[in-house]
Amino acid sequence: MEKRHAFYEGKAKILYAMEDPDLIIQFFKDDATAFNAQKRGTIGDKGIMNNAISEVLFKLLEAEGIPTHFVKRLSDREMQVRKLEMILVEAVMRNVVAGSLAKRFGLAEGTSLSMPVLEYYYKSDPLGDPMINEYHIRAMGLATDTEMKEVEALSFRINEILKDFFDRRNLILVDFKLEFGRYHGKILLGDEICPDTCRLWEKGTLEKLDKDRFRRDLGKVEEAYQEVCRRVCG
Ligand code: C5P
Repeated sequence: MEKRHAFYEGKAKILYAMEDPDLIIQFFKDDATAFNAQKRGTIGDKGIMNNAISEVLFKLLEAEGIPTHFVKRLSDREMQVRKLEMILVEAVMRNVVAGSLAKRFGLAEGTSLSMPVLEYYYKSDPLGDPMINEYHIRAMGLATDTEMKEVEALSFRINEILKDFFDRRNLILVDFKLEFGRYHGKILLGDEICPDTCRLWEKGTLEKLDKDRFRRDLGKVEEAYQEVCRRVCG
């Protein structure tokens, strides 16, 4: 087994360096946090399910021509990925009103948007990830214009691919968060795609099958992740 050391521990993942400086390992934890880590808990086997779900979705996106950091799944909780220089901007794509969009603009949760909406947030725990626009991003030197054009194009394309994939599994992709990074001059999709980072509602009943069950104390949290895992990983 190759010697390795953890160089980052976040709320849901630990990142390990490898001998090859271009590669790292993402280890998926069961820890769950919400509201900028004011609420903490664990979701049984979440790490295993998120690793498996992310693997399927990264492979799907790669097959559709989206460049991602995914290399291969190593174990139940570990995924080998390319080491990115992360862009400190979270891209949130929305198809249906929910969460902070409902709150910010006083819109009814569940209202369909007439077109997908892309929002950016500055990745900063101390500041609680404030919303940011492309002028801020450029002025603060977080990313170049060319990089943000790529981020925008990839985000919309990823939305179309994932919306269709979940639709075929009787799930509405309400919204989701993406993170991108630089890798040898290219922009790659990084992080993970799972019920921690997506809102997924059952078609028809609109039952929530994502982290909102934890955030809002709706119960049956593990069951929701298991159901998404079953439909995605089949
Ligand atoms: O909270 P909000 O409505 O802005 O979240 C939009 C989407 O982005 C949700 O699917 C949520 O799970 C995801 N998100 C995330 N990480 C964050 C903020 C939002 O995965 N830091």
